[in-house]
Amino acid sequence: MKAVLIPGDGIGREIAQSVKAVSKALDTGIEWLEYEAGAEYAAAHGELLQPGLLDEIERCGWALKGPTATPIGKGFRSINVQLRQRFSTYANLRPVSSLPGVPTRFDNVDLVIVRENTEDLYKGIEYMLDDNTANGIKLITRSASLRICRFAFDYARRHGRKKVTAVHKANIMKLTDGLFLSCFREVAAEYPEIEANDVIIDALCMKLVQRPEQFDVLVAPNLYGDIISDLCAGLVGGLGFAPSANIGDKVRIYEAVHGSAPDIAGKNMANPSAILMAFAMMLRDLDHGDAADRLTNAIHSLVQEGTTVTADIGGTATTTEFTDALIARL
Ligand code: ATP
Ligand code: MG
Repeated sequence: MKAVLIPGDGIGREIAQSVKAVSKALDTGIEWLEYEAGAEYAAAHGELLQPGLLDEIERCGWALKGPTATPIGKGFRSINVQLRQRFSTYANLRPVSSLPGVPTRFDNVDLVIVRENTEDLYKGIEYMLDDNTANGIKLITRSASLRICRFAFDYARRHGRKKVTAVHKANIMKLTDGLFLSCFREVAAEYPEIEANDVIIDALCMKLVQRPEQFDVLVAPNLYGDIISDLCAGLVGGLGFAPSANIGDKVRIYEAVHGSAPDIAGKNMANPSAILMAFAMMLRDLDHGDAADRLTNAIHSLVQEGTTVTADIGGTATTTEFTDALIARL
């Protein structure tokens, strides 16, 4: 099968190289259609996306994406926003789990964040009421709330997860978050085997940094989902190991959560684990569960052993050395 690969900016090219090598070693049969996008492409060609990229994603339905930066102040719209709008990738899925060998405060985190990706305050409906008053609108719809909650419960069912927790502030935002919460409860009733509860966003933040192990699947509107995603990435050792998937009805785009890391770009220092973990998510969704397990286990064992790891987790290995050592473990 064919899938689009977008290396992107900064360390993107180096970590995309790892993906290609690992994909080959796993014998996945995936043919990568490589397209350029991002600030570096824009500097050379005056546009953010290589022509044909969007149509290719539309045709394939599957894409793996490196970090892309948006040139500041030149009127470009962020690539992630463009992709999200064009393909209605309404669910942003971020699994967060502790890895033995990665320095962190907790060793027992294993949760999944399901973030609504299309509305809420991020819809971008903002205007000036007068020179001194800005107004932003929090848009919550029944259809998008039902859809994301259904996605979360379906995910829980398919992946043997036991509990789904809705994140909200419905005690204050009675209409918007209230609607989200009532949609959550409606959907929860269709999944009697899965425990359902809800938590107020501020209380959740405290609970996450005290006892993160009590959470399983979290489903949240866009803004809260964004914030707790980074909080949770921090719980398990930061950006080096944080993958995500953007999921729509016809298109799935997988990516590392981290950015283009310009400070280490081109130095063969980047940790390719996050994009490889995103690749593992993609393999699982493609029903290559076996290859996904082999890849995940190899990352875990390599990191736990700790002799051939990259500088971000205290090692001295280059991206290439890490990738080669990983392939040797597949
Ligand atoms: P961008 O504007 O593209 O988000 P950034 O400067 O915010 O770029 P990030 O990629 O978000 O950079 O990373 C923040 C810090 O984490 C940087 O110091 C970067 O070097 C480090 N970092 C991010 N990703 C990785 C990685 N895969 N391997 C090693 N270090 C990383
Ligand atoms: Mg950044």
